[in-house]
Amino acid sequence: MTQSSDNIILVKAPALKTLVVKIFSQAGSNPRESELVADHLVEANLRGHDSHGVGMIPLYITNLGLGEAVLNVHPTVMRDLETMVVLDGGLGLGQSIAHEAMEIGIKRAQKHGSCIVALRNSHHIGRIGHWAEQCADAGLVSLHFVNVVAEPVVAPYGGKVARLVTNPVSIGIPRQEKPPVIVDFATSKLAHGKIRVAYNKGVDVPEGALIDSMGTPTTDPSVLFEDPKGALLPFGDHKGWTLAFACEALAGALTGGLTVKGPAKRPAVINNMLSIIVSADSMGTAPSFFQELEGFVQWAQSAENGQASSVLLPGDPERATRSIRLAEGIPVDKMTWRQITQAAESVGVAERALAAALEA
Ligand code: NAD
Repeated sequence: MTQSSDNIILVKAPALKTLVVKIFSQAGSNPRESELVADHLVEANLRGHDSHGVGMIPLYITNLGLGEAVLNVHPTVMRDLETMVVLDGGLGLGQSIAHEAMEIGIKRAQKHGSCIVALRNSHHIGRIGHWAEQCADAGLVSLHFVNVVAEPVVAPYGGKVARLVTNPVSIGIPRQEKPPVIVDFATSKLAHGKIRVAYNKGVDVPEGALIDSMGTPTTDPSVLFEDPKGALLPFGDHKGWTLAFACEALAGALTGGLTVKGPAKRPAVINNMLSIIVSADSMGTAPSFFQELEGFVQWAQSAENGQASSVLLPGDPERATRSIRLAEGIPVDKMTWRQITQAAESVGVAERALAAALEA
């Protein structure tokens, strides 16, 4: 049963997924694409990354209407050396384009031991951990470097105005008979979408993430959405900036995609991603890899300081949130729900479909 507080609506995951499938089907996606998009967005919410969940629907629908995102396309193979594949996403919906890119990379890594997938020019590919999970589910280690070609919102370390976007990195590490380790974060102090969620909720963001247009630290999320604009800061000072720079070079330049070189010229949010997918089986290290990994996990978690589970592994917090949200529902703030409703109605989704999601 859906519950709501003053500003938050709780929606059950299956009902939300049904609604998202309906929105994208109605927008023109074929059944495979609408399933992939819905699965990805709802999974991002389930794992606590609301910044990359159903709140993205209004942007996607707007961009589809503008021809800045394209329905039902497959990545085009630009170069194929078997263990190195260069793909152009043709501005296709990233949830389906990146899924297909990973399918290709996984097949090749299982056959040859490793594969580098250079994906360029895809519309927004969402939560990058989703792609590391896809590789880990196939038993493969993977590294993903991503850049974002859109309006700059992040200041480089040492700078006072925005020059790049939130360039995320993800690493997936499968474990034996245990869920995988999933490292997945933006190289900015906070993901841009988390600032949007705070802005929509009317709450401040934690200190140390934002500067205003004068370069002064602030906790007010409006500096990213109202003029004069401020900027997000990289995480970890110079360290986050160096990693963000590497994403720009590896995902933006090396794949044949684009780096950020000025204000956005178009509304599309374009992602480029360099993925390195590796099979420990092919490397001949699988038994010791799993043994050493578990040895380190035990050793690291022995630093718990008396508190049960105080040392978490990357991916643990998302799994914990997922269990809670599967049981209780996904919280969506009312402003975001209004924006989703408008987007849904703009593609002709009937009001009763939106009401059904809330009543499930
Ligand atoms: P975050 O700051 O929440 O960090 C998440 C990472 O830290 C995860 O690997 C998580 O398991 C780990 N983690 C968190 N707490 C932990 C703890 N106590 N112990 C051990 N590990 C812990 O993530 P973020 O920077 O806000 O990024 C959110 C999402 O935004 C990510 O999924 C990212 O891929 C996505 N993103 C996408 C784009 C894009 O253009 N497509 C751009 C930026 C970010």
